[in-house]
Amino acid sequence: MTSFLEIPAVPGSLRQMNRMTVLHLLRKFGPITKPALANYSRISRPTISKLVDELEEQGLAERVGVAAPTASGGKPGALYRFNAEGVQSAGVFLTVDTVRVALVNGNGRVLGRLERHLGLDRQPEPVLNVIVETLQDLLAALHMTLAQLLGIGVGVPGLTSFATGVVHFAPHFPQWHDVPVRDLLKAKLGIEVWVDNDCHVQALAERHFGAGQSCTDFATVESGIGVSAAFYLQDSLYRGVGETAGEIGHMTIQEDGPLCECGNRGCWETLAATTWMVEQAYQSEQVPWLPLPTRVRSEDGSLEKLAPDVINTLAHMIFRAAQEGQPEAIDLLRRHAMYFGIGLATIINTLNPQRIIIWGDSIKGDDLFLETVRDVVRQRAMRRPREMCTIVFSSFVQDVGVIGAASLVIDALFTHYQPLS
Ligand SMILES: [Zn+2]
Repeated sequence: MTSFLEIPAVPGSLRQMNRMTVLHLLRKFGPITKPALANYSRISRPTISKLVDELEEQGLAERVGVAAPTASGGKPGALYRFNAEGVQSAGVFLTVDTVRVALVNGNGRVLGRLERHLGLDRQPEPVLNVIVETLQDLLAALHMTLAQLLGIGVGVPGLTSFATGVVHFAPHFPQWHDVPVRDLLKAKLGIEVWVDNDCHVQALAERHFGAGQSCTDFATVESGIGVSAAFYLQDSLYRGVGETAGEIGHMTIQEDGPLCECGNRGCWETLAATTWMVEQAYQSEQVPWLPLPTRVRSEDGSLEKLAPDVINTLAHMIFRAAQEGQPEAIDLLRRHAMYFGIGLATIINTLNPQRIIIWGDSIKGDDLFLETVRDVVRQRAMRRPREMCTIVFSSFVQDVGVIGAASLVIDALFTHYQPLS
């Protein structure tokens, strides 16, 4: 009688798992010999030998020397490691008005980058054509071809299904509804493509190449025009059943707070984004040092919206003024950091992560911001999860988006990568 617990064999699945195990070990412990790989993995030596040879042939493993002779006088074995420098993939990061493309190796190092503005036509086809042309131009400049790439990862600012590669909704691309970006790009380029939303790919960048490398459980949180987050839990990116996880910027923290873009009031991002800090400056009479642009007031009394680049510029100026000791700027920054910290305390209480990695153009590297956030968390989060969690800035100075997009390819390599036949 067959037990319910018996797992049916899937042809090729064991081989695929062995292959991933060997790749993991080569990446983590390399340079390493075949016998040592067999010891670590409990996979038979002949199987290990065959797998390592195959990986070397595919350019994923490399031989880097010979181990020291053993005490018993045995024949020294060749040493292998993951061929991180030789593995290359393309990261494509779509922003509101540009496409950034980079060639990234298996160490997360950017070997070349190109950025293009999108044209006025934001329909899917013209935008995808800009992606293809930018990638082709970058490869030509680097004297490379598509065939040399392991694959392409694409980060998109919108609700995206990683499993199907379909972008369901993108607020800045109103004509996009259920666009099969993965399949369309695959048809145009003829190589493997992975697509996910921009926050998710940034968490993958941290996991593979940044401050999340040593963590199995962490969150990434960005403060900018809005607040966005991603959660990496139990050693995998948590996407949620509908793959929309991460919209924690829209949890209510003030029931009658400012109106949010999502229609709700008092969402965390209406108070913790840099937009709030800039709006507070407009309401203050204490900031003559800040060149606030004049805004038109509509019939209902509300001020016209500021463009994202204007908010970024003003937020930078407030941070710089705070660093120079301007009291009103320090006050604005502290209040901004306080609201940001309140949300982090909730994440710590809810998820018990090892680390929260924060980033954002204005906040990066600002000690006063980080210290204020940590103080608020100390006051508000529960002791046990709080003491287990460190709050740090992202270690990426630039390129996090394209490195994250390319991380989709690296992540697939260590989870479910199947080379094109
Ligand atoms: Zn909201």
